[in-house]
Amino acid sequence: MQKIAILYDASQAVISTFDLDEVLSQIISILRDYFHLQHVAVVLLDPETRKLRVRTHVGWDKESEEMAIPMGEGLVGTAAKLKRPIYAPNVAKDPRYVRSIPSTKSELAVPLIVRDEVVGVLDCQSDKEEFFDTGTIDLLTLFSTQASIALQNAKLYSNEQRKARQLEAINSIARQTTAVLDINQLLHRSCEIILQSFPVDHVGMVLLDDGALAVRAHKGKLTPRLQTGSELPRGTSLCARAIATRKPVMEGDVRQVEGYLPGFEETRSEMCLPLVSLGETLGVLALESARVNAFSPADVQPLESVADICAAAIQNARYFEKVRQLAYVDGLTGIFNRRYFEMRIAEEIERAQRYRNELSVIMIDIDNFKKLNDEFGHLLGDEALRQVSTIFAENLRKSDIVCRYGGEEFVILATQTAGEHALIVAEKLRKVVEGWSFPGVPRAVTITAGVSSLPGNGKTRDELVKAADVALYSAKQAGRNRVQLAGSGLATAV
Ligand code: GH3
Ligand code: MG
Ligand code: MG
Repeated sequence: MQKIAILYDASQAVISTFDLDEVLSQIISILRDYFHLQHVAVVLLDPETRKLRVRTHVGWDKESEEMAIPMGEGLVGTAAKLKRPIYAPNVAKDPRYVRSIPSTKSELAVPLIVRDEVVGVLDCQSDKEEFFDTGTIDLLTLFSTQASIALQNAKLYSNEQRKARQLEAINSIARQTTAVLDINQLLHRSCEIILQSFPVDHVGMVLLDDGALAVRAHKGKLTPRLQTGSELPRGTSLCARAIATRKPVMEGDVRQVEGYLPGFEETRSEMCLPLVSLGETLGVLALESARVNAFSPADVQPLESVADICAAAIQNARYFEKVRQLAYVDGLTGIFNRRYFEMRIAEEIERAQRYRNELSVIMIDIDNFKKLNDEFGHLLGDEALRQVSTIFAENLRKSDIVCRYGGEEFVILATQTAGEHALIVAEKLRKVVEGWSFPGVPRAVTITAGVSSLPGNGKTRDELVKAADVALYSAKQAGRNRVQLAGSGLATAV
């Protein structure tokens, strides 16, 4: 009688919480402490695979923990199938017994049943033969009904909570991503929010770039095998499958997937959702878990919504990037414009000062361009501007920045270049232009350049530009088709 009273109290404690992990740990402690069992486990039925998996336990080893027991197999599977307790007083003599713990002599499996549906099994094993008497079996059966209800309630509650959290996450992702226009920031932020809102261990954004998949951002606690920015090896990755099928791909145990390419050391289950916006596949949202079967089909729909929002935000950010680039590109020549120069020179001055690097500015103006227009027409004038731009771009280092400053004026930002060297560069350009045959122009076209450098000719953008301009003006005065260094008073005459 006293036993029943204790059990009643215990059952009350189990039902009083909605937290699944707490319910499970209470069940385990009751089985261990009140029934003095060394090896107990709560085995839950996965409704999708119809297999039983250990969810919480004491005294089990790692290997047994990962077992998936089919219905009808072993004492546990038999209890679940027949919906009644199965007892083997001496396991060595019971043909249904499947060995999991070597020292076990007797085992009792009690099904957990809610409204005639099996949800799991309480598995109790003892190192003693005939450990369970009829009274104990009855008590455990009684307890199992309370445990079943508690488990069901906790599951319902956690499902509701999960749904609420997911809705909140979708909302939050939608709110936060539409405001982020920088693509890298957007990808990292999205990973962060998804990681906080969904029961996953790692989140990755893998984008499609020229047919190759590259990890662009990831966040979580797993150990990555690839660095951000690196390309995914081509093959049968889940990401590639999601791209090819344009459908979510889910694997409950990646170790079972033939040719699986692990992106993270500890990944056991993975879900990949294609990022599709306006019919274009942009990449994959990859979710990883160190747990086997971490994702259920119920997760697919909310995560698809998340993927859709991310895809739209990525598309937006890309579009914005394009528009922003257009704002910095000169429409006639295709090289950068003055606005870009103004932005870059500020950045480059700061960088040069911080690292004590050299920096020069070359201002270039085409000679007698008005006359060229007048003689050969505006269209040929335009073409000359394009050709001069191409000559500059092709005869400079990648690190030099060529911009159309306005009209027939150009400016070059020569990074890590001292004034004397920039003068040599300018002279080289002058020579190439002078020797160039422009279509429809039966004579030489020439340019004049003024060069200034940091810090001798100034420390600010305006001072440097002004100094280069003064040098250019002075070179024009000296007869055009020449280059001049600021402050030298000498134009390199031809
Ligand atoms: P200087 O040697 O002193 O530089 O003489 P210039 O004739 O080149 O100088 P000026 O500033 O008097 O004339 C610049 C001319 O460039 C005037 C303008 O018609 C022409 N121009 C400016 N932008 C364009 C353009 O986009 N296309 C064409 N075809 N001409 C342009
Ligand atoms: Mg001019
Ligand atoms: Mg001119």
